[in-house]
Amino acid sequence: CGIVGYVTDPASATPGALDVVLEGLRRLEYRGYDSAGVALQIDGQLWTEKRSGKLARLEEALQAAPPAAASTGIGHTRWATHGGPTDENAHPHLSGEGRIAVIHNGIIENFAALKAELAAEGVKFLSQTDTEVAAHLLNAAYATCSDLTEAMRLVANRLEGAFTLLAVHADVPSTVVGARRNSPLVVGVGENANYLGSDVAAFIGHTREAIELGQDQIVTITPAAVSIIGFDGVAVEGKAFHVDWDA
Ligand code: GLU
Repeated sequence: CGIVGYVTDPASATPGALDVVLEGLRRLEYRGYDSAGVALQIDGQLWTEKRSGKLARLEEALQAAPPAAASTGIGHTRWATHGGPTDENAHPHLSGEGRIAVIHNGIIENFAALKAELAAEGVKFLSQTDTEVAAHLLNAAYATCSDLTEAMRLVANRLEGAFTLLAVHADVPSTVVGARRNSPLVVGVGENANYLGSDVAAFIGHTREAIELGQDQIVTITPAAVSIIGFDGVAVEGKAFHVDWDA
């Protein structure tokens, strides 16, 4: 339902990833949701927390066991379509022994066929969501190409339906990769920091310089760069705009 991604330069004075991601999720709360979760890159590992219910429940869990400082993170508020609103079904969904985390808005219409294929290969599923197939496909694709952007492109081409996907990988520091088809994704361009949101509200507290992603595009953000390609792999120039309204 709501998606936030953030990368900043760990050496700069910009705010930490958990604060920025939670603030973004709060600004997206108006859309309605039944669960929330975050994934952060910390010391070459992924750290995740997710809960069904209100954002306050996630925040309580985070206060009870606060993570170390992070400069890269993603966050999600879920409106369940496949699988009930449980902690297990909340996003992020993990694969590769917790080294890949994926969040998703929308519906992957061909998930049942993909799930059957993965299950036949021995992949164990921990949730009832359509989303989890994307995490496991991404893990398999990354294993073949060792490039998170290319892995996302390969996966996006296998999915049918509507999706905004964001992914982080423990082995790819200071990087968030996104993909979109029939579901919105906007880039926020900051100084020593870049943002992704399902809506500009996700990052409006930090930057008003934005780039709209077109249909069937993949975006990769690092603290210093935003690069966009089509699902066909061809580089695309993003459409930059200034957010001059109050989101
Ligand atoms: N279809 C996904 C799920 O049920 C994502 C729903 C959403 O857009 O929040 O988990």
